[in-house]
Amino acid sequence: MLERPSLYIDGQWCAPVGGGAFEVFDPSDASLLARVAAAGADDVALAVQAARRAFDSGPWPRLPGHERAAVLRRIAEGIRARQEELAILEVRDNGKPLPEAQWDIADAAGCFDFYAGLAERLDGEEREVPLGDERFRASVVREPVGVAAAVIPWNYPLLMAAWKVAPALAAGCCMLLKPSELTPLTALELARIADAAGLPAGVLNVLPGLGSEAGAALVEHPGVDKVAFTGSVPTGSRIMRAAARDVKNISLELGGKSPFLVFADSDLDAAVEWIMFGIFWNQGQVCSATSRVLVQRSLYPSLLERLAEQARRIRIGNGLEDGVLLGPLVSAAQHARVSAAIAQGIADGARLLCGGEPPADRPAGWFMQPTVFADVPLQSALWREEIFGPVVCVNPFDDETEAVRLANDSEFGLAAAVMSADLERCERIARKLQAGIVWINCSQPTFSELPWGGVKRSGIGRELGEWGLDNYLETKQITRYESTEAWGWYMK
Ligand code: NAD
Repeated sequence: MLERPSLYIDGQWCAPVGGGAFEVFDPSDASLLARVAAAGADDVALAVQAARRAFDSGPWPRLPGHERAAVLRRIAEGIRARQEELAILEVRDNGKPLPEAQWDIADAAGCFDFYAGLAERLDGEEREVPLGDERFRASVVREPVGVAAAVIPWNYPLLMAAWKVAPALAAGCCMLLKPSELTPLTALELARIADAAGLPAGVLNVLPGLGSEAGAALVEHPGVDKVAFTGSVPTGSRIMRAAARDVKNISLELGGKSPFLVFADSDLDAAVEWIMFGIFWNQGQVCSATSRVLVQRSLYPSLLERLAEQARRIRIGNGLEDGVLLGPLVSAAQHARVSAAIAQGIADGARLLCGGEPPADRPAGWFMQPTVFADVPLQSALWREEIFGPVVCVNPFDDETEAVRLANDSEFGLAAAVMSADLERCERIARKLQAGIVWINCSQPTFSELPWGGVKRSGIGRELGEWGLDNYLETKQITRYESTEAWGWYMK
């Protein structure tokens, strides 16, 4: 069992003031994996103080971008140097298959490199803006928002941390990172890596703890200027309310129930492969999972048959075993939620094609078979609510108009996918889909260069790309009166 008795505050490893701790379990066999220090409100106060000091009087926000970039690149190197070890830790903490964890860790390193590039571009970015009045001269500068709190979920523990820490540091912000209480282990390693990379004290503070304690204390603290949150809609809504009191800058990446439109001219195998990647990757615990599949009626029967056949073949097991492509769900609570959603779907009349229960040969651990439902009632919770598990719903459509209407009939709007041999049709539909992300002839590939985020209840703002950096920058105009003539309004 791992012991992680310390929080990372002000460049030091320190025990929580209240001595709190929480337990973390290995999802593959429900065994105790780690005991981890739990930050409470007092620790949050100390960390905010440290981050404030580092921001208000420390060198970090005033360093030229290329100097911050050098530290970010060293963090990327530090992650890469420990890639395999971090990937294994992620599997033990989260349950995901090792090849996915390796991909995540490589992406996390890539994210730090990418934002190093953007930090360099901030140097010399200040520009004059031509005005229609030649008595004035104006320039626009961008400055870091200040002290930012990042509250992140458990589905991509290190990668979600990277998506927030890398742009925040690139912008010159100081950060408080609260990982999920279900998966805090790699975030603590990130603190070690950042420390070794020479990040000044107080610039990054890592505070594992419970949402209701460390999380709530962070988002309510008046010393925090910005809250960047990824997680569920109810928590996002609570955080928005808490942030409203001090009018904090917020960005929210929330849930989804993303559609995947498959037209009859699609290649059947390609469609099945991408549908499976869209819903079984990371056990379906992906905010952008394409969990509502709409298939043009003439392809519907053959697609259902092939999808169920392929889903049954997916190897389930401990993510560290060779060939496993579906690990356990993250926790007993998540397993219970997914099981309840499946039971409710069956009760509501959806047709279960495969899966629907835990695999018989995995009595310990929180496993669920890949599950395919067809003919799902359009008003059922199964069709409308996020399940966050390896459960896909498939329904037929007749034409393009109906497909777009059904796709957009959701309170969410994070992602959507469309597949067809007719690329003009794909492009046309991409523009009609209410979503922040649209994939054509694929589902899920994600790039640091591109904006990530949703419309409707899927959130506010965008992460990644240059848009992710904007989250941590304020824009300031500096306007100078240059004329030698008196202004002459009161004093003529
Ligand atoms: P969650 O909302 O339960 O928890 C997310 C984080 O918020 C955790 O760190 C938790 O400790 C913290 N938290 C909980 N209550 C809090 C409070 N009152 N104040 C402050 N912090 C609090 O979500 P989860 O179960 O960890 O993650 C699953 C959800 O995340 C899904 O809905 C999924 O769609 C969403 N998600 C979205 C994206 C995206 O980019 N849009 C990415 C990943 C996950």
